[in-house]
Order: sequence, then structure tokens, then C-alpha cells
Amino acid sequence: MPLHDKFGRRITDVRVSVTDRCNFRCVYCRSADPENYRPEDELLSWDELVGVARVLHGLGLEKVRVTGGEPMVRPGVIEFISRLRDLGFHDLSMTTNGQLLAESCDRLIRAGLHRINISLDSLDAEKFERVTRTRKFQSVMDGIHAAQASSLRPVKVNAVLVRGLNDDEVEAFAELARSAGITMRFIEFMPLDADRHWSRAVVVPAAEVRSRIHARWPLVQVPHAPSETARKYRFADGAPGEIGLIAPVTEPFCGHCSRIRITADGKLRTCLFSLQDHDLRPFLRNGASDLDLADFIKEKVLEKEHGHRINEPDFVPPSRTMVFIGG
Ligand code: SAM
Ligand code: SF4
Repeated sequence: MPLHDKFGRRITDVRVSVTDRCNFRCVYCRSADPENYRPEDELLSWDELVGVARVLHGLGLEKVRVTGGEPMVRPGVIEFISRLRDLGFHDLSMTTNGQLLAESCDRLIRAGLHRINISLDSLDAEKFERVTRTRKFQSVMDGIHAAQASSLRPVKVNAVLVRGLNDDEVEAFAELARSAGITMRFIEFMPLDADRHWSRAVVVPAAEVRSRIHARWPLVQVPHAPSETARKYRFADGAPGEIGLIAPVTEPFCGHCSRIRITADGKLRTCLFSLQDHDLRPFLRNGASDLDLADFIKEKVLEKEHGHRINEPDFVPPSRTMVFIGG
């Protein structure tokens, strides 16, 4: 019986966060102040992560996205990807800030990675520094070029838009999509930042992005699977590249959600905005069988939240922020 919830949604995708550490401090994600990382022994070992993945594969999951924190900062992540491939997952992807990508791209592909999402929130080096609080703009651009030159497809570049910070760059990003033939995705800012600076006023609605790009380069909608997070568009003039709009705040897509998440410290999260997560470590560390773990996961997934409730008056953001959940 495939993994499903009580609303009949089939669960086919898992996002696995392999670390809560990151070499960037993006303003919409982490705080400028040092945070307390989880002690090493609270994080799942690679063997434990593979153990969870094996059970999820047995439950019919097909897609794994490796994320973090920044997945590339944890030594051993490339071997982990090859172990996921050996388990038989047919869609393996990673979300990365791209800083360490150029030097590792070939090894990631040899390990079995199929697809990659790279975050880039500004095309201006100085503004990039303000957003990420690093001086790594060129390394990220090198990472994007390395991915473009490799067999990874599609290469998706993700920008989180924040009003007053980088929303003046929508057209420039669209131009990058056209000139480089990449998929440029715009993500609405969600209330998951460590500084709790999120407000509706700084969310840039996907509809605005769509109409601004459409006014300059007419767009044609591309069909997408219902469970996909992005609404996709191509350029009507036949230019290469694609635009993706991810609008969890203004156009929620919870009704077709097919995702669950595993955090680096071994918690199952059935929604990005879950107020409660479910600890898998006791199963992994106290000798439980795969069957016991599978039964626990099935029971918790059945109770997956109906939706994220960001737009409800009594919305409460989760205590864990994006860097600790895994995007
Ligand atoms: N470090 C990697 C990266 O930045 O790509 C992977 C982890 S990051 C948490 C995953 C994705 O979440 C990135 O695309 C990032 O831009 C996005 N993200 C982080 N905080 C967010 C927020 N508050 N709202 C929307 N997206 C966010
Ligand atoms: Fe790090 Fe990614 Fe969060 Fe930026 S968005 S601070 S790169 S985890």
C-alpha cells in the first residue's frame, strides 16, 4: 500500500536535511548572530540516514531531495548520494547555495545526482553580500556555470524575493533565464526566518512577478504535475529558459502536496509548517526493525496536516526555522 494521508494524498517525495549548518547567513533564513548548532551526536549518522531512506523507499517513495542547512558542508554527502542511488531512488536532486558546487559537480554526477537547485538571490555582487552576509558571489556563479556545463538537468536557480531588497531584479533574473537557458524560479518569502522579520508587506506575490515578466517577454504556461510546487512558464518568443513561480503564501498548493521531510536530527515533518515533529531516533538507536519504523512513519503520515494555515488569523509559525527544517 503506497504511503498516503487521510486526505488521500499520495506521498512520493522526501526532502532530507543532512545538516543544520550553513556557510551563509541569508537574511530570510538565518540570524546574523551565531546560533546553537545541534551537537554532532544528535544528528543522524550517514548510516542512520540511509536506514530511514531504505524504509521510505520500501514505502514507495520515488524522489529524494538532499538539502540542509547547506548540504555541501557536511563531509560524506557525495557518498550519501551514491548510497541513495544504490537503494533505487530514480529521482535524486539537491538544493544548495552553490558555493562549493563548481569543485564537486562531477563527483556529484558520478554519485548519481540527477538534478540540482541553486539559490541565488541577487545578480549584483554587492547586494548578494547583503543578502547572504558572505562575499561568495563569484563562487556561486561558478557553481551555476559548472552545473550548466554538466549533465545535470534541469538546472534550476531559486531566488527568494523580499520587497525592498531584491524585487527590483525580477526582469534581470528573467533575462538570465533567457540568456543562459536555465529555469529561474521565484519563491515567495515564508514566515520561517530566524529573525522573525517576515510580514505580509515584504512578500512579493507571484502574480506580480508573472505580470512584470509577461509585460516584457510574453509568457506561455507550461503544464505541470498537480503535486509540483512551481507554476511553470516558457517564453512565447521561443527563447530558451523557463520561469517557475512558487507561491506558498498567495496561491497555496497544499491540496496536492506529496512531500514529507526528515530533519538532520532525525525528525519526521509532515509539513514545512508542522508545529510538531516525530522523532525517528529512538527507532534507529534502540534496535527497532525496519517494519516498526515503517509502521510509525505510516501512522504519522496518515495525520499529515491539511494545509499550512499561513493565511489564517491564528497562524503560528513553527519554532524551527528554515535552516533547521530543510527547504
Ligand atoms: N542551503 C541551501 C540553499 O540555500 O539552497 C539549501 C537549504 S535552504 C533552507 C533551501 C531553500 O529554502 C532555498 O532555496 C532557500 O532560498 C529557501 N528558503 C530559506 N528560507 C526561506 C524563507 N524564509 N522563505 C522562502 N524560502 C526560503
Ligand atoms: Fe544557508 Fe540556504 Fe539558509 Fe541561505 S537559505 S542561510 S544558504 S540554509
